[in-house]
Order: sequence, then C-alpha cells, then structure tokens
Amino acid sequence: MTRKLVQKDLLDNLLKEVETAVTAGETLVVFDLDDTLFSTVNRHLRILREYAQRLESRDPASAGIVRAIARESLRYAITDTLKDAGLREELVRDLKDFWFARFFKNPYLLEDDAIAGGAQYCHEVVRRGARAIYMTGRDEGMREGTEAALARHGFPAADGKFASLILKPRFDAPDIAFKIEALAKLKELGRVAGSFENEPAHINLFRDTFPQARHFLLETKHSGKPIHPHPDVHRIKDFRR
Ligand SMILES: [Mg+2]
Repeated sequence: MTRKLVQKDLLDNLLKEVETAVTAGETLVVFDLDDTLFSTVNRHLRILREYAQRLESRDPASAGIVRAIARESLRYAITDTLKDAGLREELVRDLKDFWFARFFKNPYLLEDDAIAGGAQYCHEVVRRGARAIYMTGRDEGMREGTEAALARHGFPAADGKFASLILKPRFDAPDIAFKIEALAKLKELGRVAGSFENEPAHINLFRDTFPQARHFLLETKHSGKPIHPHPDVHRIKDFRR
C-alpha cells in the first residue's frame, strides 16, 4: 500500500540521496532566499511602521490605517496590501516609493525571520556532503546584509566551500533571466540534487533544467502569476521534519 509522502519524508529523501551521491563528485542543493529560507513579513511591517510614524502629524487617520495592517493581511505586492487596507490612492503611491527605497537595503534585511527548520536543514545538507547554494534575486549591493542575516539565523556561512551565495550582479536585471544564467553556471560547478523556491515559475525552471533532481515549492507566498508548479514538484510549508 502506498501512502502519501509527508513533508518529513520528502525532505529526508533528498538528504538520503545527497548522502549516496557524494562519491560521484560535487553535489549541490539550491535554496532561494526571500520567502524560501527567510520570511519577509517583518521587513514589510517595519517599513509600514516607519511610514505611519512619519505620517502621524499630518494625517493621523491614514497613519492609523497603515499601522493597523496585520501580518496576516500582507499580500505579495505592497500596493495590494495598501489598497486592501483602504488607503487613499495618493498615499498608496507615496508609500510604494517609501517601501521601495528601503525593502532592498541591508539594514532592513536583518528584520527577516528564518523559515522554520531552514537553517538546520541547510546544515544537514552540508553534513551529508553537499554544498548549499543560496541563489537569490537580491543583488550584490545586498551581500553584506544577506551574509549578516544568514549568520544571525545560524545558516551555514557562504564560505565558497560548504555554502555559496550567488546574487544578481545588477539590481535591475530581471530575476528569471538572472536565474537562467546562474543555473547554466551551476552545471559547471557540480550536480544539482535538489532545489527550493517559492516562485512557481522559478521552480519550474529548475525542474526543466535539472529534471533528475528533487524540487520543492515553499507554500509561503509568491508573485501571484497564474503559473502552476510542474506535477513533479513537491510542496512544503517549511523545513520542519
Ligand atoms: Mg523567493
């Protein structure tokens, strides 16, 4: 009788495979960062708090609306969150700019929480002989904050041996184009055994590039593009086993 594989089985299976594959050369497991290893919720909330503070004296009613936005009401796009909350159009535009000027900045990256079990899982991947590859749409300007956030939450350090951090060379490069290019480079580095992503379009790209590997979609949040993950892709909530 077959039973449905639970999250623990799916995650364990990749670890077992890593362990048996290490003799065949360098093995890689790829992890996206935002909404895969890190939750961006606190980063969003801090920016909203700061904006509300700034707005308080000139428009206390609107400041109250912004301050009352709960973590459960956060949408992927900040503008959708603000429209849902009933903030007036002009302030939605202003707050979007305010958000944009902060969300990708190093000090704000330290607000992020780790997705449950992620750091332990990355260590387990390394312990079994693979290299953890952090591959993110964050750009090189965010390296400092990213490394600090990884350290703060106990992830394996990106020393280029047990773990590597691959960032976008330029902020304005589209994430998907960057990932296509980065995946081609990974092929030269070793054999990809698994990958983790929160974006269905990205996990499908990983799956198409490395069809023999195991791929996981984190059911956190994503851009809302109407793309379904390939049926081979496993869905998990977090990294707890
Ligand atoms: Mg992501």
